[in-house]
Amino acid sequence: MQTYFFELLTACMNCGNPLLINAFTGKITCEHCQKDNYISAKLWRGMVVDSMKEARKYNEGQKHSLKMFSGGYQITLTFGRRKSRCAKCQTMIPDNVYDSFEGGDYKCTQCANVILIRKPDKFVQEIVPDAKYIVAEDSGQLNTNIQGIEIPIAAKPVIFTCPACAANLEIDGTKRMIKCQYCDASVYLPDDLWFELHPARTVDRWYIINNEKEVVTKE
Ligand SMILES: [Zn+2]
Ligand SMILES: [Zn+2]
Ligand SMILES: [Zn+2]
Repeated sequence: MQTYFFELLTACMNCGNPLLINAFTGKITCEHCQKDNYISAKLWRGMVVDSMKEARKYNEGQKHSLKMFSGGYQITLTFGRRKSRCAKCQTMIPDNVYDSFEGGDYKCTQCANVILIRKPDKFVQEIVPDAKYIVAEDSGQLNTNIQGIEIPIAAKPVIFTCPACAANLEIDGTKRMIKCQYCDASVYLPDDLWFELHPARTVDRWYIINNEKEVVTKE
């Protein structure tokens, strides 16, 4: 068993804002413009498969960063070999978790942070056939592939003044394009308000646990 990690950042194809690729998935919804970005299997192969080949030779903890241009995206890619850890407290996820984990939420033994561990779906399998688990992805990004999953709602609604009729509207952060219930105007929420409701997120490190023999270093 071998662990590889990835940190991927690109720009949204639609609006040019930063797009975090915090999940191994074919479609990522931009948090700025709410439009979808498609990341093909071919592009994933270029990002992940070659990196794994390269990182096989690395020592534990060794990593590499590069920029690549592919499929219309400019991608900043960091990859390397490091055992999977809790992003909050850096406690290692014990190897034996991967012997039989069914998939789902794993709780960090140290800080109780919830870490998503899942078995590869078809999309992943076709790109990395030996992948055993994908770890620490952003579950929100994965869920964009599934219909009916709720978007996290801001803790408390904020008041926003309708630019058309000046009525006070309650915004809960679920939708960026809203309809004023008084004058029926369609209002697109401005950046500062939207980002107050949805604080900017960072590039997450996520992992592929791969079924392969440990590399034996020749002395
Ligand atoms: Zn966008
Ligand atoms: Zn932790
Ligand atoms: Zn209005």
